[in-house]
Amino acid sequence: MSTGEFDLIERIRTRIAARADVVLGIGDDAALLQPPPGLQLAITADTLNAGVHFPQDTTAADIGWKSLAVNLSDLAAMGAQPAWCTLSLSLPGSDAGWIDAFLDGFLALAQPHGIALVGGDTTRGPLSIAVTAMGWVEPGRALRRDGAQAGDDIWVTGTIGDAAAALATLDACDAALRSRLDRPTPRVRAGLALAGLAHACVDVSDGLLADLGHVCARSGVGAEIDIDALPASPMLLAFAPAHRRVFQASGGDDYELCFTAPAQRRDEVLRACADVETPVARVGRIVVGEGIHVMDGAGRPWQPVRMGYDHFRED
Ligand code: ADP
Ligand code: MG
Repeated sequence: MSTGEFDLIERIRTRIAARADVVLGIGDDAALLQPPPGLQLAITADTLNAGVHFPQDTTAADIGWKSLAVNLSDLAAMGAQPAWCTLSLSLPGSDAGWIDAFLDGFLALAQPHGIALVGGDTTRGPLSIAVTAMGWVEPGRALRRDGAQAGDDIWVTGTIGDAAAALATLDACDAALRSRLDRPTPRVRAGLALAGLAHACVDVSDGLLADLGHVCARSGVGAEIDIDALPASPMLLAFAPAHRRVFQASGGDDYELCFTAPAQRRDEVLRACADVETPVARVGRIVVGEGIHVMDGAGRPWQPVRMGYDHFRED
């Protein structure tokens, strides 16, 4: 069904519930929002382009889920409480059915996280979705990239490598593995539980070594990683045992958290993650120096083929 721009926006508007902190939502020239007193605003933006950030055959509902998930993941990595978001859509045509399905996926994730859609933009062009997400954090408690200290443990939530395995095998992979690529779980509750406890945090979007590399560079430290300690799903172990290490070290799109915390606070980290039902694994430590040194379980050096995904690098 073909529909005009304003009908599409109306379709979106009617599905958004009113709430007290959104004084004026979709429908005016700008939204009016009521920030809670004393808190800092965390704000992040991520764009998803067809064929780059999701395979062309991805369903509208999965695109809706993922476009919000990647932004919630950035709020999680800051230890922020999600509050508001905007949605800018570039669509090749005006398809009401596509919008409805997109919103099904988007709102399925927005509702449990209490994030309200407050505005956006709708234009014609190649399929592209840009979300801006805003959240709250208490002053001094945000999980930044520049706080890692030598001696910290390095931790990873959930399992990593599944999304890269799914991307590498698109047509051949089964539905459960594919859903790890299409419907990542943003670790919002873990991020909140770790605020004030972890020294540094990043979400794994471009690949563990690349993303941890940002933490090391910003913190002025190095890292040692045990490649065999990286948490792998039974699916990954069964499906791609030969490529497991590469997918886990350098594959992107998992949206797990990688964080560092003082070794003396190991028990607190385990308890904080258990409280929010988030599996967590210790995978290495922060050291004096620079760069990431990867070893296998026997202590032998392991050389990655590449660190992670870079939009502007050709290899
Ligand atoms: P303007 O031309 O003043 O920017 P628009 O016609 O683009 O206004 O948008 C009208 C209203 O609809 C605005 O409040 C805008 O935030 C909202 N809006 C437009 N597109 C979307 C969208 N994809 N999702 C949510 N809100 C949207
Ligand atoms: Mg506009």
